[in-house]
Amino acid sequence: MSSTNFTPRYLKVALSVPMRRLFDYQLPEGESVSDWPAGIRVKVPFGKSHRIGLLVEHASSTEWQPEQVKPAQQRLDDQPLLPESLWQLSLWSAKYYQHALGDALLSTLPTKLREGGALSAGNIRQWRLTAAGQQTTPACLSRAKAQQHLLSLFQQEPALTDNAIAEQAGSRSALLAMEKKALIEAFSIASGDAKWGEKLQISSDTPVLNKEQAAAVAAIRGSQQQFQPFLLEGVTGSGKTEVYLQAMAPVLEAGKQVLMLVPEIGLTPQTLNRFQKRFNCPIAMLHSGLNDTERLDAWLQARDNRAGIVIGTRSAIFTPCHQLGMIIVDEEHDMSLKQQEGYRYHARDLAVARAQKEQLPLLLGSATPSLETLQNALHGRYQHLQLRSRAGNAQAVKHQLLDIKGRPLDQGFSPELLGLIKQHLHNDGQVLVFLNRRGYAPSLICHECGYLEECRRCDAYYTLHQRTGLLQCHHCGSQKPVPHQCPECGSTRLLGRGVGTEQLEQALQRHFPEHPCIRIDRDSTRRKGALDAFLGQIKRGEAKLLLGTQMLAKGHHFPEVTLVVIMDVDGALFSADFRAPERLGQLITQVAGRAGRAGKQGTLVMQTHHPEHILLQDLLQNGYGHFARTALSERKQAQLPPFRHLALFRAESHRSEDAEAFLMQLSALLQQKLIESAIELGAVLGPMPAPMERKAGRFRWQLLLESAERKTLHQWLHGILVQAEKLPISRKIRWSLDIDPQDL
Ligand code: ADP
Ligand code: ZN
Ligand code: ZN
Repeated sequence: MSSTNFTPRYLKVALSVPMRRLFDYQLPEGESVSDWPAGIRVKVPFGKSHRIGLLVEHASSTEWQPEQVKPAQQRLDDQPLLPESLWQLSLWSAKYYQHALGDALLSTLPTKLREGGALSAGNIRQWRLTAAGQQTTPACLSRAKAQQHLLSLFQQEPALTDNAIAEQAGSRSALLAMEKKALIEAFSIASGDAKWGEKLQISSDTPVLNKEQAAAVAAIRGSQQQFQPFLLEGVTGSGKTEVYLQAMAPVLEAGKQVLMLVPEIGLTPQTLNRFQKRFNCPIAMLHSGLNDTERLDAWLQARDNRAGIVIGTRSAIFTPCHQLGMIIVDEEHDMSLKQQEGYRYHARDLAVARAQKEQLPLLLGSATPSLETLQNALHGRYQHLQLRSRAGNAQAVKHQLLDIKGRPLDQGFSPELLGLIKQHLHNDGQVLVFLNRRGYAPSLICHECGYLEECRRCDAYYTLHQRTGLLQCHHCGSQKPVPHQCPECGSTRLLGRGVGTEQLEQALQRHFPEHPCIRIDRDSTRRKGALDAFLGQIKRGEAKLLLGTQMLAKGHHFPEVTLVVIMDVDGALFSADFRAPERLGQLITQVAGRAGRAGKQGTLVMQTHHPEHILLQDLLQNGYGHFARTALSERKQAQLPPFRHLALFRAESHRSEDAEAFLMQLSALLQQKLIESAIELGAVLGPMPAPMERKAGRFRWQLLLESAERKTLHQWLHGILVQAEKLPISRKIRWSLDIDPQDL
């Protein structure tokens, strides 16, 4: 073997470790560089064992002693794992978010690939209804409840894996019994179909678009094969999904794939059904409910063009596609699009970057656009498409503020509110009650001395959960039995203070015993499949009273709901978080969108002590669009995003002074760089304690950077993290950087 100085013999490999550097290895003896292209997975020795990494680049020299550099063990792929454009986007994204490259690249791959698994998911066994099964109605199985339930699952989804059945139906015996009766059958194919493009059929059963919808579809159809972002702004029920479907059609007809991002809990069977009814092509689904095999399978379906449509939550923005023709981000304002820990990226912003790199049209849809996106639309960077009326025969929602100043509250309900609920139930409407606080009461207080039970590890009170008899901290998860006596004065008169969903349920059952009530929050839906089961019950009209946290606010279509109640809007009116008004406006508008979707008059009622509050008045009188524009001008005056760009360093430690000291040193580095590089228009704020200073036993501090220019901010941060990593104190604490933070 001869190796000259000119042939690159070194491999720079990204490994999933928190260090901000690549690792050098030698090309193994006898191997040729051309067989080791960048972007393949490689197995390399690391410490006493080995790791799977991604080959990022070649080098002809190394800063280490050549004899220290070990040879790589093996390459796992012949070809780069990702298409070039997505590879480039992934590299860019890690840089933009200043995240360790190895972790950024590897954390977005399916687990099986990250662990070195083969590029094949194998065949996944699935079940489907036979012809006889399709003829069967639930009534035919009324004596076998488990089978009946399974049948209803199959009526919602055409095919279910063993896994999905185990999760949602629980019982295997029902499955076997139905197989014996020849109502269902197993089948197994490599999922998807690479010939979907040739076989594509588009259902002609489509509604006639209204004027605004037609204009939106025409605009989008006219912008194929070029980078063009659209903001599709339209209230819930205005027909955005219909616009997506019709805008997608020509893309699929041209044999190109469509990638659609949806919020965490927006991926309903209802949505999937609509897509399947319209297009006969395979749809790859990527969401948190998949096991590792299913996830790899869906990822490969997208990459190898065995699916025409790819629908997924946040991380699906990193899904490789064979030939992408369009990206859609539904509910683009939704918080779940931002990853809040580890690799803190924003999937909507990456969608913009990806669409630009791949020269694609991009649809950002929302009833309540984020102020960032709205600003881009108002400034013409995005084309603004508006749907102002509700599609079909749905009517606009009536709003009503209930002033509860001085009113007697019965477990949170004013007499007027109870009267309204009664009236709607009487008229056979469904009622949806919304409160973003789970548990029975947000704190436990001693009625004798006022002592409040506080979490020992957080700056927070315990939430009382009466059903389980536990006090729970919603911030660190710690829990303990409800005490019988006050630890301060010994009194046994301990009371829940404030109201949570569990208590509302109790009150509703007391007032309306003849109506079953369904509560949807994280406690009631902990069991897998529970949420789907509840949603099914609601849809079938088995309950008239619905109650829940924001889980209930999103995406679901409840046509029979005529009254939506927001129990408490006051908290958000006086929050320190500058995004609180935006979020409140979004929440109220989204929740209101649950009412009156099928030709029935819907009413939204909110209880408040501040009916005159200008935010509420603006929102109710002028709608979200106006409200958001007002909020934008306030942000501009206050020099806040999207008019300024932020980056937030967070540090936490068991010793408060360590976290603070680290940020002080970091601040000094940043100030110095500001002067050295003559960067103007940048400011460092802090260090200051985080809004909840102590959480899970750690003290939390933060340092905020702001700048008028995104570019300046990045210039400023460049190289700082490597320096921060080298500060000795950094090893004593946990710290992170959040670019474009959503929570301050
Ligand atoms: P969004 O996504 O904005 O909530 P959808 O697309 O789901 O709105 O539309 C709401 C309802 O109205 C759906 O049942 C849909 O089938 C129906 N719909 C949409 N567009 C039309 C139309 N042009 N004519 C009649 N019905 C429509
Ligand atoms: Zn007491
Ligand atoms: Zn706690």
